[in-house]
Parts: sequence; structure tokens; C-alpha cells
Amino acid sequence: MGTATDANALLRILFSRLGRPHIGPNAFSFNVPSVRASGAITVERGTGKTKTEKATFNRLGGMCVRCEGMGKVNDIDLSALYDDSLSLNEGALKIPGYSMEGWYGRIFRGCGFFDPDKPIREYTKKELHDLLYKEATRVKVEGINLTSAGLIPTIQKSYLSKDVDALQPHIAFVERAVTFTVCPDCDGTRLSDQARSSKINGINIADTCAMQISDLAAWVGGLDEPSVAAACRAAPPSTRSWRSASATSRSTGHPARCRAARRSAPR
Ligand SMILES: [Zn+2]
Repeated sequence: MGTATDANALLRILFSRLGRPHIGPNAFSFNVPSVRASGAITVERGTGKTKTEKATFNRLGGMCVRCEGMGKVNDIDLSALYDDSLSLNEGALKIPGYSMEGWYGRIFRGCGFFDPDKPIREYTKKELHDLLYKEATRVKVEGINLTSAGLIPTIQKSYLSKDVDALQPHIAFVERAVTFTVCPDCDGTRLSDQARSSKINGINIADTCAMQISDLAAWVGGLDEPSVAAACRAAPPSTRSWRSASATSRSTGHPARCRAARRSAPR
């Protein structure tokens, strides 16, 4: 019996070969975003000759766009970020490390997007929007080029995109300020609509990840033999033990589940 990770690798290969509609192999990976690019490419020709051509490039990833493959979305409690009766200069911000004496203070005072002496509850809509949501923008403060961004994208980047260990020093703040809920778009499966639209006998890859390993092995064992054998040949060697278990269509009821399912399971 292999691990759940091995099973994931095999399932991605199975679905990329047998799933209908047919979508690319990356399209089943919740950690691969869809990307588009266009520009000039250099084509190598005969001896030392090259030619520049226009090209576009698309990669269809399996990452759920809404939660960026996290399986959960967060909601930030603004009252944990600042005291709206105070101005920035009076110390309105309650986010760890956001001291008006430090870099953030210099940026907030110098960026010109809002008045640092006005209580936050008196901000105009635009000032509040800039304080909370403004995208990273280059600003010149005291002759120095700095980047200013709203509180929420900064928190998302500095606290919420990190693993639990890196979060530890600020865990009290995060617990106070952020509520996590299962992503409504992917239902916590972390996979895009497209990844979940591709099915084998009416079952998509997220469904298989929610199965007990024993049921999954039985399901794989019940698929059309030659296609499964072909997919298994293409699977990485680490899936070998899992494959032999699935080939018998029976197992001893191992309690392990795929990672995606475990993450999304209610706590
Ligand atoms: Zn999602």
C-alpha cells in the first residue's frame, strides 16, 4: 500500500489520459496556476541564424482561481486592523510591526493617499479604499523609492501566504483578525472548475480524492484494463506499491485519504 501522495500522482495521470473532456496534465494540479503570455520568441535556424517570431503561450493549471489552490478563503475583521477613532499618527494601526516610527510610518505619511492626521472613520471612500486595498504602487518618500500597498494585500502576502511555522510569532493577531472558511468556488477541493469538469464514468478527480483509499483502489480496479495499465506505466515508480494494491481491486480498508480531501474535511 502506497501513500496518499502516490495515489494523487497516479490519479492525475489517469484523469489526464481517460478524463472527458480531455484537458492537459497540469490541469489536475491544484498548485499549478493557469498562465498566459505573449511576446517575441527566437527560433533557431541553420548555422548561427535565428529568426524572431511572435508567439503566445497558454498553460492550463488546475488551481482554483478564487482561493489560489488553498481550498479556503479568508475574511479579515477590520476592527482588528485599526481603531477607527484614531488617526494613523495617533497610532490607529493594531497590526504587529506597523509602527508609525518605522518604515510603514514613513510610507503612510509620505505616500499622499490619505491624511495621517485624520481619524480613519472620517476618511473618504477613496482614502479608505487606498488604505485597505490599494495595489502595490511605487512612491517616493523623502527622496527614496518605496512600495506602498493597502493593508489587506500586505497582510495577505506577509501573513496568509506563509506556512503555519512562519506564522507562529503572529498567530494571536491572525486568529483575532482572520476567519477562514471553505472556498465556495471549489468546495475546498482546491481545483478549478475545468479540472472538476473532466470525468471518468461520471466521477471527477475531486470525487476520487474524497474516497477512502480502499474504495478508490476498487474504483481504479474496475476501470477499463488497457487504459489503466497504460496510465500506470506512465506513473512515477513511487506509485508501484499502490498500483499493485489497486490491481487486486481490494484492500484492507486503509483509513488514509488523499491530501486534498483531508485538508477540506470539516474540523
Ligand atoms: Zn477554491
